[in-house]
Amino acid sequence: MKTTFDYAKYADNCVKCAKCIPTCTIYQVNRDETTTPRGFIHLLTALQDGTLELDKNAKAIFESCFLCTSCVSVCPSKVPTEQLIENARAEIAKKFGIAWFKRVAFYLLKHRTLLDISAKLGFVFKSCGFAAATGGMRARFSIPMMKKGRLLPSLAAKSFLATYPEKMDFGGEKTVAIFIGCMANYAYTGVGDSLLYLLRTLKINALIPKDQLCCGAPSYFTGDLENTKWLIKYNIEYFELFIDTVEAVLIPEATCSSMIIHDWARVLEGEEEWVARSKRITAKCFIASKWLCDQTDIAARLAANGKRSVSVTYHDPCHAAKTQGVSKEPRALLGNYTIVEMSDPTSCCGFGGITIQTERFSLAQAVGKNKAAMIAETGAEMISAECSACRVQIGEALNRYGATQRFAHPLELAARALKEAADA
Ligand code: SF4
Ligand code: SF4
Repeated sequence: MKTTFDYAKYADNCVKCAKCIPTCTIYQVNRDETTTPRGFIHLLTALQDGTLELDKNAKAIFESCFLCTSCVSVCPSKVPTEQLIENARAEIAKKFGIAWFKRVAFYLLKHRTLLDISAKLGFVFKSCGFAAATGGMRARFSIPMMKKGRLLPSLAAKSFLATYPEKMDFGGEKTVAIFIGCMANYAYTGVGDSLLYLLRTLKINALIPKDQLCCGAPSYFTGDLENTKWLIKYNIEYFELFIDTVEAVLIPEATCSSMIIHDWARVLEGEEEWVARSKRITAKCFIASKWLCDQTDIAARLAANGKRSVSVTYHDPCHAAKTQGVSKEPRALLGNYTIVEMSDPTSCCGFGGITIQTERFSLAQAVGKNKAAMIAETGAEMISAECSACRVQIGEALNRYGATQRFAHPLELAARALKEAADA
């Protein structure tokens, strides 16, 4: 199969300077030029001119990219390597199909009721049978290529969206909507609880749109463009119902916010009416820490509370620091804690998306091990990041590494500090 995408249009800007290679996440755990940004670019142009066949070997190569954008952030020619790989993944999905367990996951992400039932079953299963069967250990998800499998995050008894009413009046003049993201909705519900606590403190009303669905990132990174477009268009139509009534849409997740703000319009390219509709929505979308720091006095309120005797190290999610330039804002939310910086807070944690987490899990483990060592070295008591995907990956890595740091989202730590001050 010869590719139809014009990779050369972007790849020809590569001057082969190799500045990207030392920053590349795969290169750090697999010293092979083939799986580096420069190597990928070379192979993609070979795909275009027909000298490389998109076979299983090429598939494995293109699926080993973590889509971390580290290469893009240092490239003097601004070659969008991760976008080219995303495009190659779409071609791979068309040619080879998508694994059954990913199709099941993507189907569930389109159907809130089924997802609610699955999460509920997952909670009951873990709370009763499986925890007992594993001597109280947290459950592991496993498929043959993962060997020992990976720890699953604990699911909440009740999702964030099912817990609160749609409109929460905190006595303010402004209202913001919350796009919570799937992981914070079903697993890390403290993130949404904390965001509401901060909004209440700031007297900003909250709108919690109940029918929001996944932002589309998991299917996009897997190359399933059909599902991705379906989710994006569904969310755009739904957001249009309330977007004029809110000041902003706050997203307490790096990956979801980056997907919505940067990738929605890109995925819809060629459908100009949809691009315009998406831009009207995304103009009001913000990663939560940025909007709170830019538009409220939260940082000053936190600073007025003095320091807690707890130390925190902050990991910069790729989809916050590299794609959105957000790194000082979450740190400002940690103003009540002693921040101990790790040696490289912007190095990718190794999550990499659903394909890396399942079919290429050994790569995720190798990158995670380096990150866990870096975190442990700080001696900090807590680790924080504004991203649930990083939380899943770092939690797993710390557990395997035997490190003791506990994870908390910056919103959780900020709310905790304000609560403690109010209760004192
Ligand atoms: S940094 Fe950019 S121009 Fe240099 S080799 Fe990498 S992709 Fe090519
Ligand atoms: S996106 Fe990350 S893993 Fe992929 S080529 Fe670039 S630096 Fe390497």
